[in-house]
Amino acid sequence: MSRPIQNRTCIFCSIVAREAPASFVHEDEELVAFMDINPVTPGHLLVVPRAHLPALADVPDTVAARMFTVAQRLAAALRSTELLTEGINLFYADGAAAFQSVFHSHLHVIPRFRGDGFRFHIHRGADPSRAHLDEAAAVIRTAAAG
Ligand code: AMP
Ligand code: ZN
Repeated sequence: MSRPIQNRTCIFCSIVAREAPASFVHEDEELVAFMDINPVTPGHLLVVPRAHLPALADVPDTVAARMFTVAQRLAAALRSTELLTEGINLFYADGAAAFQSVFHSHLHVIPRFRGDGFRFHIHRGADPSRAHLDEAAAVIRTAAAG
């Protein structure tokens, strides 16, 4: 199912328009999924809206829900294959600071196994009090309600 390209500088738009190669595992009206060209582990794939939606905030909630549903289905499929899949990470990078490198929304589905070499180097310096957590929760609750 090909459509006119939406953003000429976007590699995922080129893939959706079938102007760039990809190895597809799923296609429907709203979404595609294809193999990551530089996989963290074998089977690493990406669930991608057809529409050029750069940021998480741009993704309509129905599309976001579908992305998760398709990722869940493909995660189950991965577990049923011969690919080494002791666990799965779903990973969404929103913004360069969060490691987003392709600014067309996508949800990573990454098979995981012990010793696969995928690491987050996390430094959790803070040990917030309950009062601080409550304060942060209140700020976020208010923002979410607005
Ligand atoms: P992110 O850092 O979350 O924006 O991830 C972008 C992902 O897209 C990386 O894992 C890349 O390996 C992958 N990627 C970039 N170009 C292509 C491509 N042409 N086909 C498949 N995957 C790609
Ligand atoms: Zn795009």
